[in-house]
Amino acid sequence: MSAYAYRDRNRTEVIYASEAMTENIDTLFFCPNKDCTAHLHICAVDGSRKAYFRATYKQFPHIDNCPFASSANHFDSDKFNEELFSFDDAINNLFLVKKESERNKIQRNIGEHNNGENNKQPIKTLRQIYSMCKSRPVTDMYAGKKIRDMILDDRSAYYYTKGCFGNKIVEARRQAGHFFEDESKRVFFKAPTESGKYTFVLQFDEEKIYGKIKTEIKKNRDKLFIVAGKWESAEKYNHFISNIYSDRQVKVIR
Ligand SMILES: [Zn+2]
Repeated sequence: MSAYAYRDRNRTEVIYASEAMTENIDTLFFCPNKDCTAHLHICAVDGSRKAYFRATYKQFPHIDNCPFASSANHFDSDKFNEELFSFDDAINNLFLVKKESERNKIQRNIGEHNNGENNKQPIKTLRQIYSMCKSRPVTDMYAGKKIRDMILDDRSAYYYTKGCFGNKIVEARRQAGHFFEDESKRVFFKAPTESGKYTFVLQFDEEKIYGKIKTEIKKNRDKLFIVAGKWESAEKYNHFISNIYSDRQVKVIR
């Protein structure tokens, strides 16, 4: 399901689900993924006034691995505090091992106590940030930052002509064939997923986290993954590398 779609096959005219409530359920819309041939229609979420786009007809489903097919990626913006969100803070927090991040949370809660105005928290997990990024076009903003400055995926690939540097979420697939290297504790991904133009090298410190992620990739060989990293040039052309300190930096998209 998707929070936005396009009125035309060329994907020039965007429409948000919230604006499409009055549309007929027979009206055809197109998937945000330009390679996807799904026919989308407006639907209401049961028991709420929220709407979303769904590939209602079996004959016109999302293509395999279309990131807009999953209902797990649904983002409910009303549940979170957009103003309090800082992309870099959120990404840096994912780098911390769990114990440190819990400590930060406790300190934050103490600091925010009694400010009562709004109890909503900003998005913080990798899945939440990813769902938010997928809920609107890449030129839209969230908390004052453009989506394309947060995520490299097929939609924002045009913007990453020189590579991918700094804190970014990358939507990727595993490198075909040889995708890990036990000796150096490295895992290799390709992104953007359609062209696979860039290689992303995940450098693990800890044997345990390395083993866990490697197993996860083996179990989900054909699935897309999301990785939060602080990327810099690796030794080879079009290769980018980031340290992976925590398993919260790598998730499979189901
Ligand atoms: Zn699709």
